[in-house]
Amino acid sequence: MTKTLSSSLPNPTIQSSPIMRILLAEDETRIAEFVRKGLEEQGFTVDLSSDGEDALHLATTQAYDVIILDIMLPGKDGLHVLRELRAAQILTPVILATARAALDDRLTGLDLGADDYITKPFYMEELIARLRAIHRRHTGERLSLRVVGNLRMNLMKREVHRGDRLIELTSREYNLLEYLTRTAGRIYTRTQILEHVWGYYFDPKTNVIDVHVQRLRTHLANEGEDREAIIKTVRGVGYRIVASDSESQAGT
Ligand code: CA
Repeated sequence: MTKTLSSSLPNPTIQSSPIMRILLAEDETRIAEFVRKGLEEQGFTVDLSSDGEDALHLATTQAYDVIILDIMLPGKDGLHVLRELRAAQILTPVILATARAALDDRLTGLDLGADDYITKPFYMEELIARLRAIHRRHTGERLSLRVVGNLRMNLMKREVHRGDRLIELTSREYNLLEYLTRTAGRIYTRTQILEHVWGYYFDPKTNVIDVHVQRLRTHLANEGEDREAIIKTVRGVGYRIVASDSESQAGT
C-alpha cells in the first residue's frame, strides 16, 4: 500500500524561494514524523513517502531540492530508487539513510550517485547541516556559470572567457558586465546601472558609464570585430547585451 503525506504548505516556487523542499522517504512512521517535524521547525517543506515506488513517483514528478532516502524501504529499496532516478537523468541531490554502518550499502550508494549518507540513529542537527551543505554545493555549481552567446562567466571565480580567450577585467568592469548579463537582451537604463554597479547616486549626466562600457567593449572585442557586437547602445536610454554572436556579422 502506498501512502503519501504532504505537508500543509503549498508547493513553493522553487526558483525564487529560499525555502528548501525535501522529499523524505522513510517507512518507519515514528522516525518519519519525528524528522519531518524537526525539518519543518527549521522552515523546510517536507513531503513524506513510506514506500519506494511512491518515493520514485514523487521524485520524478515533483521538484525537490534534496531527497532523503532510506535504504530499507518496502516496494522498492532506496538503492533501486536512486539507480532509477539517475538513469532518468534526475540529478536532485540524495542523502541515503542507512540503519546500520553498512559499508557496502554506502559504497554502492555513492557509486550510484548519492551525494551523502547518514547513519541512523542520527541527530537532527547533523541532518540539517548536511542538507544545507548539499544544497549550497548544488545550487552553487548550477548558478555559478553564466553563458551569453560565446561569452562565459564563472561567477564564483569572477572569470570571463570569450571562446577560449580569458578576458582580464578590473573589478568595476567585471561588475558592470555581470549586471548587464543578468538578462541578455534586456535594456538597462543608465540610472539602473549607476545604482547597481556604482552603488550610490551619481549625476546621470556623468560619462562614467560610457567610459567603462568603452573599455569593456575593447576587452571583449575579438580581432576585427565590431566593437558593439556584444554591448549595444540604446540611444538616450542605456545599454543591452546581445546573446547572439551572429548579430555582430551585419557590418562585416
Ligand atoms: Ca526503513
